[in-house]
Amino acid sequence: MDERITRRSVLAKLGGLAAVALGAEAWQSDAEAGAGPAAVAAGLVTCVLTPEQTEGPYYIANEHVRSNITEGRPGTPLTLHTTVVSASSCKPIKGAAVDVWHADASGTYSGVLGNSGTFMRGIQKTNAKGVALFQTVYPGWYQGRTVHIHVKVHVGGNVVHTGQLYFPDTLTDAVYLKAPYSSRPARTTRNANDSVYRNGGSKSMLTVHKSGSGYVAAIMMGVQRS
Ligand code: FE
Repeated sequence: MDERITRRSVLAKLGGLAAVALGAEAWQSDAEAGAGPAAVAAGLVTCVLTPEQTEGPYYIANEHVRSNITEGRPGTPLTLHTTVVSASSCKPIKGAAVDVWHADASGTYSGVLGNSGTFMRGIQKTNAKGVALFQTVYPGWYQGRTVHIHVKVHVGGNVVHTGQLYFPDTLTDAVYLKAPYSSRPARTTRNANDSVYRNGGSKSMLTVHKSGSGYVAAIMMGVQRS
């Protein structure tokens, strides 16, 4: 009899613990929901924060401030049109420094791995509309990565965003049919099987349009100022 009562009380205690655990879980999922659609509905979150992605091993700080970053290297012309906005107000951020770097048509980065030069690297400041423009070429591929352009955004001396920009695979297929890309073997990695792209890369997909003999690629980056 005593033992039964004891068992019952233990079960009751366990039940109580389970209820506490369920309560905590329910509270957690409420909090998660509150940070998502509810916050958007309440006007607390109005712009999309562009996902952070690794800077990778080939970043070099303090590159040249210039619009044309090709240093005469070959490739399909690409105008990169970047817009920086505040993720909380959606307003353009003027005077942000946009810092880009990418592989040339042969898949080579300047200034690293024993390579010389500063090609395909540069910094531009955003204008009153939050826009910074670069004249470059469509990036080549390198082992293990899908085609991408690295980007950092600095505001007031602080890095407010580090990301990577991507291209639609079908467009890359078309561009790579032409010289100088066509002399290289087929690339190893497409967006869907790139480990960095899979972690939020679809939110940093460039919108690309044909323009003359090349392309214009645009991206809007939502950042937090501090
Ligand atoms: Fe890279």
